Amino acid sequence: MSLHPRVEHDPPAPAPVEVLLGLGSNLGDRDAALLRAVERLRATPGIEVLDVSPFHESVPVGGPPQPTYRNGAARLRTTLPPHALLGVCKAIEREAGRVPGPRNGPRPLDLDILTYGDVQLETRDLVIPHPRLHERPFVLDPLRALGADVDAIPRGESPRVATTPLDVQARTLEWRQGSCTIGFVPTMGALHEGHASLIRRARRECDRVVVSIFVNPLQFAAHEDLDKYPRPLSADLELCRQHGVDLVFVPGVADMYPAGFASRIAVGAEAETMEGASRPGHFVGVATVVARLWSIVLPDRSYYGRKDAQQVAVLRRLHQDLCLSGELVECPIDREEDGLARSSRNVYLGPADRVAARAVPRALAAALDAHRFGETRRDELLAAARRVLEAERRCVGLDYLEIRRDVDLAPWPAVEPVGIEARILVAARFGQPPTRRLDNAAFGESLAVAT
Ligand code: AMP
Repeated sequence: MSLHPRVEHDPPAPAPVEVLLGLGSNLGDRDAALLRAVERLRATPGIEVLDVSPFHESVPVGGPPQPTYRNGAARLRTTLPPHALLGVCKAIEREAGRVPGPRNGPRPLDLDILTYGDVQLETRDLVIPHPRLHERPFVLDPLRALGADVDAIPRGESPRVATTPLDVQARTLEWRQGSCTIGFVPTMGALHEGHASLIRRARRECDRVVVSIFVNPLQFAAHEDLDKYPRPLSADLELCRQHGVDLVFVPGVADMYPAGFASRIAVGAEAETMEGASRPGHFVGVATVVARLWSIVLPDRSYYGRKDAQQVAVLRRLHQDLCLSGELVECPIDREEDGLARSSRNVYLGPADRVAARAVPRALAAALDAHRFGETRRDELLAAARRVLEAERRCVGLDYLEIRRDVDLAPWPAVEPVGIEARILVAARFGQPPTRRLDNAAFGESLAVAT
């Protein structure tokens, strides 16, 4: 006897759903490729092509330099579920000669599922409605030609902005359920090219990118610049939009530290030297905010800049000690043309102090050069760097200048020849009122600076 129950009639056919599909091509005989794609769709069981828009010429958006496109749109009715339809589209693209290439690169055929009924879906390889549909005239025009009511299609805000931990958790949970990897770039805003370099890397390595913007009061001492720290939110959101960030988390202080919030992450003695000695309590504040942000986002990879080398060392420890899952990715320092490390606080420097601050990377370069020419005595290397800073009269204070082991920033013993596993770190103050500049470099790396 069969274990399967007898079925007396066919199961009901899945209800057909109306789909809007974007068509594009910018290699080979473009119109022929689009027409062939429509024919292939027509010939696919479960797909009915209801209407096809005229094709028109459009200039490429983003990506490398490439020929202009022919674009159009089609209205279909299908019984295929979204991912099955995506599979059909990919197969037709491959048949047309499409091979994997750079994001927004040239292609003989591009088929984009723009809408699928009123379904909203967010998975690793398919987001519906198409998230950039409303920004693209080459998609909107053919849709209008089909008579589609484009204003009724929900817009994926770009980037989405969340202000509460719950909103972030809801979104990231949905991504994880769709098998997306999540990259996280925590910042205090006033975003510049240095932050952008982290975001670009996260964009390359992860399916979804979250940036947080939060000027964390816990890491500022009472006399520090918490109130005057720059907060250009709309420029920051624009930078995030340009870099394809999926979600920007901009919590208020009460979202991060609700009434009654009392926990602090203690950090090791190492965190009490250098930055920690100049800014007591700073790293407790950093570790506490990062632990909370991390638990909210649960990223697969978190991106930090080596510009704040001691911060990276403290956070590496935090990740290990608390078994924070996911990878901590360290990114190189991004510098301005003249060698000054980019920083949100560079705006505090007046023009003369801005020039004077070049002494910081020049001091590091002096030590690196001396090392390259064979000097390995720690104190001589430090002296080479100190001479550069002392010669700059606008340098009004040297908070620290140290050579440490790169891997954990443990002190480098005076008697041990300095090798390429060492890093030199500095914090110096410029101008009145003084602005602190911190910087660092590994021996063995080269540092180009203007004199
Ligand atoms: P902040 O907004 O200053 O807290 O910085 C956020 C993140 O961006 C930190 O991981 C910083 O180390 C990193 N970052 C800031 N400036 C730079 C830079 N010039 N190069 C590389 N990373 C940077």
